[in-house]
Amino acid sequence: MKVGVLALQGAFTRHCDVLTALGAVPLEVRTPVDLEAVDAMVIPGGESTTMSMLLDSSGLRTPLAGRMADGLPVLGTCAGMILLAVRVTDGRPDQRSFAAIDIDVRRNGYGRQVDSFEDEFPVAGLDGPFHGVFIRAPVVERVGPTVEVLARVDTIPVLCREGSVLVSSFHPEMSGDGRIHERFLDLAFSV
Ligand code: GLN
Repeated sequence: MKVGVLALQGAFTRHCDVLTALGAVPLEVRTPVDLEAVDAMVIPGGESTTMSMLLDSSGLRTPLAGRMADGLPVLGTCAGMILLAVRVTDGRPDQRSFAAIDIDVRRNGYGRQVDSFEDEFPVAGLDGPFHGVFIRAPVVERVGPTVEVLARVDTIPVLCREGSVLVSSFHPEMSGDGRIHERFLDLAFSV
């Protein structure tokens, strides 16, 4: 199970650690050639505006969009969720997303850096609550009819799935709890 982790910018290292602990093989993806080797992909947290720029300069945007259109399973966390959403409010005008999951998000919707927070919430299909770390997280403002909401905090969706695309507004790699990644691997490789 070779799982690419987009390593252009942001919080990719811990994703690799969690994937390794679960028995998957993480591959840092920086170029279109790196992408060819992977069977699933993680788009980490970080800065979606910067990542959007780097997706263009690395030449990764078009091949990654192509792989996703062909069904590549993807986990997007925080900035990764923003990059996979259909519509982004409060983004930079030149930032572009993949529209891989039918949700709209508001970038930095919970406020600024000081408004980062942690919370525990139930996740559909998991035994016991998950401890989520939210760092300048996006707020999900619309969820399409084919999207499954797997977790909410104060009625706002924080974990959503459509097909083999899974997105979280929190950082699941920072909780010392691999259950969200495990769920993603099940989703990606159980067919
Ligand atoms: N606020 C960041 C952005 O707009 C996301 C923050 C994160 O990934 N932790 O991309």
